[in-house]
Amino acid sequence: MRALLLSLLAEILPPNLTRVFFTNSGAEANDAAIKLARKVTGRPEIISTYQSFHGRTISTTSATCQAKHRDRYSPLMPNYRFVPYNDSKALESSMDENVAAVILEPIQGEGGVRVPSEGYLAEVDNLCKKNGSLLIMDEIQTGFFRTGPAFITGSCGVKADFLTMAKGIAGGFPFGAFAMSETVVKKLYLGDHGGTYCGNPLGCAVAYTVIKYLIDNNISGNVEEMGRFALDRLSLWQKSYGNAIADIRGKGLLVIVDFRSEDIAKRVKDECLARGLFVTQTQDKGIRIFPALNIKRDELEEGLLIIENVIGRVVN
Ligand code: PLP
Repeated sequence: MRALLLSLLAEILPPNLTRVFFTNSGAEANDAAIKLARKVTGRPEIISTYQSFHGRTISTTSATCQAKHRDRYSPLMPNYRFVPYNDSKALESSMDENVAAVILEPIQGEGGVRVPSEGYLAEVDNLCKKNGSLLIMDEIQTGFFRTGPAFITGSCGVKADFLTMAKGIAGGFPFGAFAMSETVVKKLYLGDHGGTYCGNPLGCAVAYTVIKYLIDNNISGNVEEMGRFALDRLSLWQKSYGNAIADIRGKGLLVIVDFRSEDIAKRVKDECLARGLFVTQTQDKGIRIFPALNIKRDELEEGLLIIENVIGRVVN
């Protein structure tokens, strides 16, 4: 089963990522990538970005730059630096010979669905290469067609050294993975990483079945079509409810409606839930829309209609 899963992953991963290690969660994948980046480079520092989210273990909490996820857990681990997201100049200034790796979400999810400017990811990639630092792309939220392509990293031509995965990999079953470049693999030895349940047959079988379904049913095409439909509809709301909606952002089926106040967002979330629709309040003022990747047009329309009616009621 593990071999079948590996060959399926090889079809959708960026071609420079030739080896895969399986984990039980996303945080565990990021944790391992950070640990191994230090081993491979012999350097201590990790650079992450403001508003990032990389998990809830102590090392990934330390790599996460959001007060609500950090403040109560001191002392956090040392040797993490933070720079503004979507600012390659700031990253350049923070780079030096002590930096083992940069860890980055290609679209920040928990941070408020922040889509970077075109070219930013390639600039980060170049800066890492120039500095001899590794690039860890955290695709735990964006991977497996969430934004259209299998992975943003592959679709924008970035050559990461690690790509971390979870969530969509097994449709809700606890499973994760990280893929590695040859640069990394050349410096790893048997026993550098491991875990009792890593690559367990049940997890591999679930992940294989889910990924095969995603590929065979052209979920990528569905996400692109449904995502366009959702964003078009949301732009209309922005015109009608400009007094309540500050911004809408997203790509594929990872979308956020940013309201002008936390109170409006909370009331919209609560009222949606009362009407049987689950949405997530993100970064206080946002409502994140994160539907199933195989959602059909009529289901999406039904959900959007509930949100639109709720906004109308809350605003008026
Ligand atoms: N990284 C990102 C970008 C995430 O969105 C998440 C979870 O929301 C994680 C890491 C942590 O993954 P897990 O909850 O599987 O540990």
